[in-house]
Amino acid sequence: MSEDFSGLGLSAKVTDAVAAAGYTKPTEIQAQAIPHVLQKQDIIGIAQTGTGKTASFVLPMLTLLESGRARARMPRTLILEPTRELAAQVAENFEKYGKNHRLTMALLIGGVSFDDQNKVLDRGADVLIATPGRMLDQFERGRILLSGVDILVIDEADRMLDMGFIPDIERICGLLPPRRQTLFFSATMPPEIERLTKRFLRDPVRLEVARKNSTAETIDQKLVKVSSKPEDKRAVLRQLIRGADSLTNAIIFCNRKRDVATLARSLQRHGFSVGALHGDMDQKSRMETLDAFKTNKLTLLVASDVAARGLDIPAVSHVFNFDVPTHAEDYIHRIGRTGRAGRAGTSLTLAAPADGKYLDAILKLIQKDIPLLKVDGEASSATEAVADDEPRSEPRSRRGRGRDKRSDDAKPAREPTEARPPREKPEAKPQREKSPRPQRDERPASKSGRDPEYASDTPFGSDGPVPAFLLRSSVAR
Ligand code: AMP
Repeated sequence: MSEDFSGLGLSAKVTDAVAAAGYTKPTEIQAQAIPHVLQKQDIIGIAQTGTGKTASFVLPMLTLLESGRARARMPRTLILEPTRELAAQVAENFEKYGKNHRLTMALLIGGVSFDDQNKVLDRGADVLIATPGRMLDQFERGRILLSGVDILVIDEADRMLDMGFIPDIERICGLLPPRRQTLFFSATMPPEIERLTKRFLRDPVRLEVARKNSTAETIDQKLVKVSSKPEDKRAVLRQLIRGADSLTNAIIFCNRKRDVATLARSLQRHGFSVGALHGDMDQKSRMETLDAFKTNKLTLLVASDVAARGLDIPAVSHVFNFDVPTHAEDYIHRIGRTGRAGRAGTSLTLAAPADGKYLDAILKLIQKDIPLLKVDGEASSATEAVADDEPRSEPRSRRGRGRDKRSDDAKPAREPTEARPPREKPEAKPQREKSPRPQRDERPASKSGRDPEYASDTPFGSDGPVPAFLLRSSVAR
């Protein structure tokens, strides 16, 4: 592996920008992918977010884009992202690493006006970053010609699959010149994704930076047995947060978006610095919360899977799974929020007796056991834990070792009313095979039932203000 960026074949403009960003050593996916991309080869990169995969395609693309220039309505490169947030992150990367270039970037995502982006496209865009539906809309309106695309990036392909975007991806691939270069990234490679790569990539180089379906080695994973009562789970969570070693900030995942709000309110009442991120929030609140968390104004972020997926939040020290995810792959994505780019991280998963089958699926997927954080010395691993009867519900301090005297640990008078009705269903994930075609946006049809996170979602970006950098057209001036 290349020790620094100088041996990878990147241009001086790019290596200077990388140095200015403070990165001295390429990550594994960067060291592996960059030379192949520069040689114009197709690649399949199996890498989770947090591995530095964005720069693994942005840096060589910038180098390749230095020769040639954009023509009106004919973007030279196309990057497809499943969500607006991810598209915005990639755009931020182009701004950061492209600061020594004079390249033009257009964004076709919800929340960014068509008019502004059409002006950029009309002038000629070097880089087009889009969600699949928006891209096709603009193509059908005759605003974009795809015959000049030299490089196509399909990012987070497994997420595209979850969101029902594969038919759109297939269509877009069919509209592009066959002799393009395709860079394909996915955290996991389910069969539908393998099929897609066979159809649309030419002799791809396959790169894998972590074992398939593996969790980062730098994450210290633990399991904590709890009862299924929400108020007991909240008490255990508070206990864990207070007792956590070197917790600087944490994301706490819930399966249901209504539980996100409930838990955040509860933690707030107990004196924690906490924000919530879920699909029912408008874009402005989501942006504000995310910014506050990124800038350490908030220590804890309670989130649902869809709201948090793929967001680049560097240096999260802890991830808590307030609920065991019902889809095993979400476990990998959730805990992947910590232990990023080689940093150490801790994940703590609260498991109730009814979670046994979900936990089994997770253990099967990650192919290792999750040690139990012993609260009472019974079991020592997840395998044993799921076989147990109802675990006790109270944290250790309330039992053998004496009561935690801190006043904010006492249950507040209003807390029992927060408990959700017992028959509420979890936010089930969409069935992959049966997904109907999504609407022309990065969101699936809101009434489709494929992703209930979106069922009553205000589309992120549809009404509220758009961050300033999204509205700028030039990567660098
Ligand atoms: P990504 O996997 O692309 O979401 O990147 C994860 C994080 O790693 C981002 O915050 C990047 O800014 C950061 N990063 C990317 N490349 C490097 C590098 N070579 N060294 C250190 N951090 C990096």
